[in-house]
Amino acid sequence: MEYAIDIRDLTVAYREKPVLWDIDLQVPPGVLLAIVGPNGAGKTTLIKSTLGLVKPAAGSVLIHGKPYADQRVNVAYVPQRGSVDWDFPTNVLDVVTMGLYGKLGWFKQPAKKEKVAALKALAQVGMEDFADRQISQLSGGQQQRVFLARALVQDARVYFMDEPFQGVDATTERAIVDLLRDLRKRGKTVCVVHHDLQTVPEYFDEVMLLNVRRIASGPVGEQFTEENLRATYGGRVAFVSALVSGKK
Ligand code: ADP
Repeated sequence: MEYAIDIRDLTVAYREKPVLWDIDLQVPPGVLLAIVGPNGAGKTTLIKSTLGLVKPAAGSVLIHGKPYADQRVNVAYVPQRGSVDWDFPTNVLDVVTMGLYGKLGWFKQPAKKEKVAALKALAQVGMEDFADRQISQLSGGQQQRVFLARALVQDARVYFMDEPFQGVDATTERAIVDLLRDLRKRGKTVCVVHHDLQTVPEYFDEVMLLNVRRIASGPVGEQFTEENLRATYGGRVAFVSALVSGKK
């Protein structure tokens, strides 16, 4: 089988200090994967090195059998909401249309067809009425939806999302869950850095537990165990038993 994501022996260091150590991860296509682990575990770094934004000290990453450089148009990235300057003077439709630049090339002006696609993606996340709104005038949940629409319009095969549920209200959380399920139905693979351990069994098929090293990865029903959570979070997960008792 060709994996959607195939990471082998990945080690990443910032100024000689390893933050990811000898990571292996194989993700089959059409899977919703949660990446969980404490702050500083290397979750964002794992995504960034997969996207070639951080150079690994060792190891390899393949996306559907090829390096990221050959798969750019097939990979969409939803960064952390806080990592973006929301005061930048641009409107919602332009931000979403930017999702198409990988396919269009930077110098081609988006045409009507692209705008229609962007509006359709905005409708999918319930934001069609905000197309002309300046991005500085959005709530946190609306910002997150704009990001998701931008990833949707790209129509990638593999999606990486860094904490999409961070600070959103219940309605937006529902909208994101529906969107993840829709992507899965269309055979897409989605890797989500996720903090709410309670919802892992409900929202995801597979889980990777990470703390510099890979503690475990695989189907939630097999790997989201008290033992693995303790190995990942140490004594800090006092509510572990309650968490795993509700699993699928
Ligand atoms: P997580 O997403 O799990 O919170 P990160 O991948 O952001 O973890 O960070 C992993 C470790 O790498 C942390 O100790 C962090 O301080 C460090 N780190 C992250 N980015 C950099 C950087 N650009 N330079 C140096 N250290 C970094």
